Amino acid sequence: MRYSETGFNLEINLTRGSIEKVATDPDTAELYLGGQGSAAKILWDRVKSGTDPFSPDNLLIFSTGLLHGTPVPAANRTVVNTISPQTNLMSHSLFGGFFGPELKYAGYDKIIIRGKAPDLVYLYINNDKVEIRDATHLRGKGTTETGDLLKQELGDYKVQVAAIGLAGENRVFMASIDHNHASAARGVGVIMGDKRLKAIAVRGTKDIHVARPAELFEMTHQMRRKIGESDGCGDWMAVDEDDSFHHNHFAWGNARTRRKDFWSAELQERWTHLKYDHMDRQTGCFNCSKKCRNVINWPGKPRFAYKCFGKDTYHMAAFLELDFSFEILGLAQEYGVDSYSTPQVMAFALELLEAGILKDTDFPDMPADNRGRFFYLLEKIVRREGIGDILADGVSQAAIRIGNGAEAYDHNTTKKFEQLPIKLGKLNPAYFLMIATGEKMSITQIEGSFPQDPLPTREQREAFVNKWEAVPDEKFKQYFLNWEKRNEISDQATCDIVDWNEAMHYIDDSIGLCGFVSSFRGQFGGGVAYHMNNIPQIISLATGLDMSKEKLWKCFQRIRTMVRVVNVKRGLRRMHERPPEDHWAVRNEEFEQKLLDTYYQYKGWNKQGIPTRKTLERLDLEYVADELEELGILKTEDEFAPAQPVAEAATA
Ligand code: SF4
Repeated sequence: MRYSETGFNLEINLTRGSIEKVATDPDTAELYLGGQGSAAKILWDRVKSGTDPFSPDNLLIFSTGLLHGTPVPAANRTVVNTISPQTNLMSHSLFGGFFGPELKYAGYDKIIIRGKAPDLVYLYINNDKVEIRDATHLRGKGTTETGDLLKQELGDYKVQVAAIGLAGENRVFMASIDHNHASAARGVGVIMGDKRLKAIAVRGTKDIHVARPAELFEMTHQMRRKIGESDGCGDWMAVDEDDSFHHNHFAWGNARTRRKDFWSAELQERWTHLKYDHMDRQTGCFNCSKKCRNVINWPGKPRFAYKCFGKDTYHMAAFLELDFSFEILGLAQEYGVDSYSTPQVMAFALELLEAGILKDTDFPDMPADNRGRFFYLLEKIVRREGIGDILADGVSQAAIRIGNGAEAYDHNTTKKFEQLPIKLGKLNPAYFLMIATGEKMSITQIEGSFPQDPLPTREQREAFVNKWEAVPDEKFKQYFLNWEKRNEISDQATCDIVDWNEAMHYIDDSIGLCGFVSSFRGQFGGGVAYHMNNIPQIISLATGLDMSKEKLWKCFQRIRTMVRVVNVKRGLRRMHERPPEDHWAVRNEEFEQKLLDTYYQYKGWNKQGIPTRKTLERLDLEYVADELEELGILKTEDEFAPAQPVAEAATA
């Protein structure tokens, strides 16, 4: 019997209209866990290096996590992976809510979609009944509106729906996939739209078996209580009224201007009233005792929910206040656009207009005020009308298409993807490596286990480490105790920290845990629910696998490596691994390149950032090494000189 997974994927070919229920390899969970891990392997195995993202042969994969559908609380992150047209690399996205567990209860671990439907369709899954249905009546409908209409049409309000809006239908690169006011961002909605798949509606009523139910239930019962009671869990930035952190530290406009004294007590009081005057309720996700999403009802606009920095992106990009975000967010969510990238693209367009690179004639009938301009640009982008057709490709590609000096205004992207608008003074070496080498497109998908900055006194640092449950190895406590200045930390510590930060996200995204109870919360010390010290036992109880910390770490390394080789096969090289040039005011190219060398060697990669044969063989990926050599990608001349010691990850 398969525990904790169904053992079946749904294979959908939209060109042929075929549906297959395919049994999966029982060894996959032990090697790749599930979620993003096994999705990366599928992309490696089945999408050829030259496949255009808009080819019918590109895959769009919806994955449940290994622990979805078990009693493990907050195991509800659905992962969506594909090849992105914005970056031409593997796109990684997540959404919370209820979709993944529901899919598991319907009897499937993944939905793998290829081909393109002749016209707009939706996929209906009701346990063993799976149908591709006409969705032309849903054309142009909003994301939540589509969910509501499908529930009505199917006569089942327990159906879980993931849908695209107008932006996805029009192949806007920033298009998201929305489910229950949670959205999969970072360029996956564009591929769903390209495949003419408007929505997936899922209903499942089957059971998921777990290997040792009594022990698992006992453990997770306590965990659920801990999540509810702990300040270390949940998205407290979404519910806290003090949002000075984002407003005083993040950049405004097209990620250039910091307003260090923006926040005030008077502002906080005004915005708190604004929120509670318009908030319907706070909601959470499947099997979680937190409520991280605030549902806002703004007069005359669609209802929406926000989290964390997501409530700030529009008004900060437009130099306005929270009421503007409340006014535009509902519409933007219904259109289905990523609220991290889209406001940056709009601010970028207005900067080009101010600089004279774009002209008034590029924006016919655009209002004069910023509020009106952002609504105008939103409409243009989601419809790909006029200048909106260029902007819909994201900042980097739009800058290339516009030319005439526009490239200089593309200053906040890495690997052609918009980054969080953060501009700092001194470089943090771990953040340099995470932004440079990260392949989840956003630093929020990499950071989170080790604190971002040192604490000022030894006493404070000691108090912090004394309650720090999440550390996988005592050395991290020593690193933190001895860390006094942001930019002064040893290379070994830097590499270990980056590795640990990444490990937690790669594991979460493969077993389906929410980062707000795990990978994003270790940095705050005690109170986080999940970490390297208890996840192996939870996996063992749920799956029956004999999982240990060492084996789990090796799973992370294998998954991380698989993501890297998918991207390497598509052209990712060292020259692409550069954080935005002005992310830190003080830069040192020689130091950064040396650090990159050190990190590549630590990971067992060559000078181009490509995993070496030795590394691939250690991770049971000989066949990957063979293929990379056959393609002429893995070359001995790119190896580091053997005289240089290669430090392997100490926890490996
Ligand atoms: S912590 Fe918040 S975001 Fe995470 S699963 Fe729970 S309710 Fe959802």
